[in-house]
Amino acid sequence: MQMMRPGQTRALIIGAGIAGIQAALDIANSGYEAVLVDRLPSVGGHMAQLSETFPTLDCSQCILTPRTVEVGHHPHIRLYTYSELTGLQGQAGGYTATIRRRAAYVRWDLCTGCGLCQSRCPARVPAEFEGLLGERRAIYTLSPQAVPNKPVIDREHCRYFSTGRCRVCERLCPVGAIDYEQQDEVFEEPVGAVIVATGYQLLPLAALPEYGGGNVPDVIDGLQFERLLSASGPTAGVVRRPSDGRVPGRVVFIQCAGSRDPERGRPYCSKFCCMYTAKHALLYRHRVHDGQAIVFYIDIRAAGKGYEEFVQRAMDEERVLYLRGKVSKVFRQGDQVMVWGTDTLSGRNVEIAADLVVLAPAAVPDPSQAELARILGLTIGEDGFVEVRDAQLAPVDTLRPGVFVAGAAAGPKDIPETVAQASAAAARILSLFSRWERAAQVQVQADGGS
Ligand SMILES: Cc1cc2nc3c(=O)[nH]c(=O)nc-3n(C[C@H](O)[C@H](O)[C@H](O)COP(=O)(O)OP(=O)(O)OC[C@H]3O[C@@H](n4cnc5c(N)ncnc54)[C@H](O)[C@@H]3O)c2cc1C
Repeated sequence: MQMMRPGQTRALIIGAGIAGIQAALDIANSGYEAVLVDRLPSVGGHMAQLSETFPTLDCSQCILTPRTVEVGHHPHIRLYTYSELTGLQGQAGGYTATIRRRAAYVRWDLCTGCGLCQSRCPARVPAEFEGLLGERRAIYTLSPQAVPNKPVIDREHCRYFSTGRCRVCERLCPVGAIDYEQQDEVFEEPVGAVIVATGYQLLPLAALPEYGGGNVPDVIDGLQFERLLSASGPTAGVVRRPSDGRVPGRVVFIQCAGSRDPERGRPYCSKFCCMYTAKHALLYRHRVHDGQAIVFYIDIRAAGKGYEEFVQRAMDEERVLYLRGKVSKVFRQGDQVMVWGTDTLSGRNVEIAADLVVLAPAAVPDPSQAELARILGLTIGEDGFVEVRDAQLAPVDTLRPGVFVAGAAAGPKDIPETVAQASAAAARILSLFSRWERAAQVQVQADGGS
C-alpha cells in the first residue's frame, strides 16, 4: 500500500523576496503548506527597499505590504526568518530540510513589537536596509513595516555583548522578551518539493573603482538612490547627497556599471537597469524641478508593456538628457564629481561636473548561492545564477527533480517577470502534489479492492 510520506505535500521556499512570497501564497491558498525561509529578520527582499515601481510608479511598499502581512498570518505558511537552509536529504516527495535559525536574543513569542527597546539602544550602526545611508540601533527591525515586526540584536554591535555592560533594552522591555542567552536553533522539516528564490545582489561599489565606487562619497548605487527617493528612507524622500546633505542640482546616472562586460566575466545584461534608471531620472526631476538629469547608456533595453513609452516620457516630458556612450573615469574634484566619457553618437569626449553620480551596477547572484547550490545539489551557470533544466520549455525546473527556481535567483528579472515565474514554480509543485495524492488514493482503492 502506497502511503503519503510526512510533509510530502509541503513545499520549502528559500528566500522571501517577492518571488518567495508569491510562490508561498499560491501554494498556501491552494490548501497546501509552505515553509518559507529567509536569512534576514523580515520578508520582502529588495522590493521592500524600492520607492516607486516602473512603469506605473506604484508605491512599492503599498503594493507589497498586503502580501507580506498575508504571508505573516497565513495559517498554511510556516515562516522562518533569520534562518538558513543547512541541509537537504532525500528525494522529490520525501525531502528532509535542515534549517538553522539564528539567535535573535529576543523571545519573539513574548515580544509585542512595541519598539521601546530600539528607541533607547545607545549603539548606532549604519543601516544595511538604507544602503548604509541611514542608521539603525544594535537592536533593530529592518524597516518600520517589517514582517514579522520583531527585533533582533546584532551581537557584533551590541554594547552588552562587547563590554558586558548596558542591558538597556532588557530594562525597557515591558514583557521580558530580551534573552541574551538565546542560542541558534537547528531543526528539521519534512517537505516534498523546494523552490529556490534567493534573488540577486548588486555588485558592490568597491568593485567599481573606475566609476568612483567605494572612494567617492557622492557615487552611490541604484538601491541607495531608491532609499533617498523613499518617504520612509533616511532623508524622508528628499534627494540629498551623502557627503554634505545638499540637494544635488545635477545628477549623472551610469548604466551597465560592470554588466555587459565580458572582460569582468559578466557579459550578461542585468535587465532591469535601463528601466530603473529612467525611473530614477524621472523621479529625481519630480523631486528637484530645476535639477538636471543625465544618463549614460550603451543602448536602451526596455522590452515590456509600456516600458519604451516610460523611457520616452523621461526623455520628452522630464527632459532627461540621454548620452550614448561609455564612461571612462569618475573622480572627485573639489566638492563635485567629475565624469569623463565619450558621446559615441557625436564622437566627442565629454566632461561633466556632477553633484551626485548614481551607478546601475551589475546584478549578481547572492553570495550564498554557490553554497546553497552545493547543499541542494544544483548546477550553477558561468554567471553564478541557478541553471534551469530547459530555458525554453522548463524555465523554472532545475536539474534536481522536485526542486524549482523562481525570480532573480535564476538571473536578473523585474517584478512582473519574477511574480510570473514564482506562480509558475508554485503551479509545477501543485501539479506534483495532486499527482502524488491521486497516486496514493488509487493505491488505497486498489488495496481495498484486493
Ligand atoms: C535599484 C533597483 C530598482 C528596481 N526597481 C524596480 C522597479 O521599479 N520595478 C520592477 O519591476 N523591478 C525593479 N527592480 C528589480 C526588483 O528588485 C526584482 O525584480 C525583485 O526584487 C526580484 O525579486 P526576488 O524575490 O527574485 O529577489 P530578492 O528581492 O533579491 O529577494 C531574495 C530574498 O532571498 C533571501 N535570501 C538570499 N539568499 C538566501 C539564503 N541563502 N537563505 C535564505 N534566504 C536568502 C534574501 O534575503 C531576500 O529576502 C529594481 C532593482 C534595483 C536594483
